[in-house]
Amino acid sequence: MCAFPDRSEPRLVLDGEHPLWDEALAAVNRDLAATLPDQRPLRLIAYPGYEDLDEQVYVALSNGEAHGSSLTPGRSAAEALMAVADAAQDTVSERLWRAWPVCTVHDLGMHPRDADGRPSWWCAGGSRESDPAHLRAAIGELDAVQRTPRPNRKRRKSR
Ligand SMILES: [Zn+2]
Repeated sequence: MCAFPDRSEPRLVLDGEHPLWDEALAAVNRDLAATLPDQRPLRLIAYPGYEDLDEQVYVALSNGEAHGSSLTPGRSAAEALMAVADAAQDTVSERLWRAWPVCTVHDLGMHPRDADGRPSWWCAGGSRESDPAHLRAAIGELDAVQRTPRPNRKRRKSR
């Protein structure tokens, strides 16, 4: 036994260990697929706890790289989704060096915001008064408003 476990050795969190986070990550991964189709899905990794510190769970890229704070347990699905979206945004934007997700109307990075209990992506809007801040979509539903075109996607013909 080692009194100081190697903190650089994370493990993959298994499906079902944290059902609220699993569900939240699935929603965030839908948004990732809709906006950065070349990225493989994000996943949860855990660094071992030591002494009186619990294991710490992070949202990581598929290669295991994470950035920012660990997840704090939420009481509800909405809280879990806010936390996971926040962590995913930190990891993607810091590790890939790009704003994510970006509002395609204003070309601005969006942020998670609780819209009457419904976690959503919020955009600061344009500089004109007629172009105010807005909620772009519920987290997990970005593909409804801004899917990145894929060259191999078949066009639907009108007839
Ligand atoms: Zn916008």
